[in-house]
Amino acid sequence: MAKVFVIVEHRQGAIRDATFECVTLGRELADTFGCEPAAIVIGHKVRPFAVTLSKYLPETIIIDSEELADFRYETYATVLKDILEKETPLLTLCPQSAFGMELMPRLSAETGRPCATDCVRVEMEGARLVVVRSIYNGKINSRLAFGPSGGYLITVRAASYAPAAEAGCAGTIRDYPCPAFGRPFKTEFLGYREAAAGAVDISQAPFLLSIGRGIKDVENIPKAQELAEKLGAILSCSRPVVDKKWLGKERQVGTSGRTVKPKVYLAMGISGAFQHLAGIKGSGVFIAVNRDAKAPIFRAADYGVVEDMFKIIDALKEKLGS
Ligand SMILES: Cc1cc2nc3c(=O)[nH]c(=O)nc-3n(C[C@H](O)[C@H](O)[C@H](O)COP(=O)(O)OP(=O)(O)OC[C@H]3O[C@@H](n4cnc5c(N)ncnc54)[C@H](O)[C@@H]3O)c2cc1C
Repeated sequence: MAKVFVIVEHRQGAIRDATFECVTLGRELADTFGCEPAAIVIGHKVRPFAVTLSKYLPETIIIDSEELADFRYETYATVLKDILEKETPLLTLCPQSAFGMELMPRLSAETGRPCATDCVRVEMEGARLVVVRSIYNGKINSRLAFGPSGGYLITVRAASYAPAAEAGCAGTIRDYPCPAFGRPFKTEFLGYREAAAGAVDISQAPFLLSIGRGIKDVENIPKAQELAEKLGAILSCSRPVVDKKWLGKERQVGTSGRTVKPKVYLAMGISGAFQHLAGIKGSGVFIAVNRDAKAPIFRAADYGVVEDMFKIIDALKEKLGS
């Protein structure tokens, strides 16, 4: 039976959440095409990951070697090229992340299989496989159809699909031999460095007031800080606020900042770029204030206020008193 492969992304001893979102899509597409979904786990001492994945998918393939302990596209792509050529899956899915972005285009070049990156939806349109990509900061969706091919490679944007639940049955785990690698390698893994958490730990805060470029000027930061204090919230922000050095990096929410899970996330003057939204996937009530009714953030928020954020700041301060 033809296969749909999900490449498992893991780092520092944990499977990345985005893998389970790819599992959801993998199962869906396998159903559509009458294929069997399978996970591919590459690394060293990664059997526990395979055991976890076997609770989600009927088959998990494991390629374990000391040389695969750290991610390096040369070794990982060699392994994947080998397995793709031998097992000829119809579809191979991988998270759109630094890992997926480095791996999949190279795999496409090496195997000749077409690759669509950063997809938010994958579906059938008649007999054609179509991907939807969100472009121009979420304002436009572009639909692209693949031409005929023996197999397709797709990277999936974080938070586009809900994480899969366990399947309720134990899948099989199959060991796959690690192929020999061509040498010398052009890259070297130097180490993994966690970004410093800094004095404020927004990842643990139950209530975050988050500000974006809409704050306009560094002189307006104290207004937001004051409201945060009145609300009992911690002040966080989008990346442009950090880039301008108006707030420290430890307060940045998103893919290149922190992942947060507050009970309440109040976003003001933030457009809702996917890199930001990916950092708040696990939040409780999500409220957005933006003066642009078409801002993408309103598609993700539970409550939306189309208004000038400074009016809302003043109104809330007045309501809360001194
Ligand atoms: C590799 C990579 C990693 C990234 N990582 C992150 C990340 O971790 N976190 C992150 O946030 N971004 C990240 N980004 C940047 C991301 O793509 C967006 O550019 C960024 O999130 C936009 O920030 P923003 O919403 O504050 O600004 P903008 O997109 O400029 O939006 C500002 C919003 O404020 C609104 N506004 C303006 N004035 C007012 C007002 N007075 N009242 C109300 N609303 C107002 C506007 O309508 C607009 O919607 C990353 C980008 C890349 C390429």
